[in-house]
Amino acid sequence: MPIYEFECRKCDQKFERLILSADDKTPECPECHGRDVQKIMSAGCKVALKVPGGYGGASAHSCKPSG
Ligand SMILES: [Zn+2]
Repeated sequence: MPIYEFECRKCDQKFERLILSADDKTPECPECHGRDVQKIMSAGCKVALKVPGGYGGASAHSCKPSG
């Protein structure tokens, strides 16, 4: 199931949404019903970066830190 995590820029609400079609790329925020939401990339990447020396090697290569 293609479930993506989104974050509302307006109220910082984070929510998960099942995306079935391309038309559904921008879901409404369940909190403020705004559409100013952004898709959050796989949370696993962030966790890996937080753990020093935890996930090295292969998993680190698939992560592209934006900072
Ligand atoms: Zn919101």
